[in-house]
Amino acid sequence: MQIEDVETHRGELEVLLTRHTAHAVRLSVVPDVEQWSRDHDLPGQGNPIARALVHRASGDWVVLIRRSIGAEQITSVLDGLELFGGFPRIRQSLTTPTTFLNYLVLHELAHLANDWDQSCERECDEWALERVLQDER
Ligand SMILES: [Zn+2]
Repeated sequence: MQIEDVETHRGELEVLLTRHTAHAVRLSVVPDVEQWSRDHDLPGQGNPIARALVHRASGDWVVLIRRSIGAEQITSVLDGLELFGGFPRIRQSLTTPTTFLNYLVLHELAHLANDWDQSCERECDEWALERVLQDER
């Protein structure tokens, strides 16, 4: 699986966000999350495919997401969930670009909605996957 242009999923992702929070959230699709963060003087580590932040002026929540997501990037996220994240069979559920992006966006929303920092990756994954799997049913 690879996702050539996240922008083509914007409609469904915005619906997903409004279903899971009442807070204003902007979905910001950018070429490269690390570069974007550097350009905006935001500290960050590595080059994630998505990132959560709060827009300083408006207080809006922002989910930054990389426009084009390659097969290796997706594989590495799924490997992380299966091997270290406690979701050994998650590939059977995240089989389409839509389900993968839903997980990715809800993971970032979990940071914002629960005020969970980067030490809470596992909690964010649980929060997100619970909702993705519920929506699938
Ligand atoms: Zn996270």
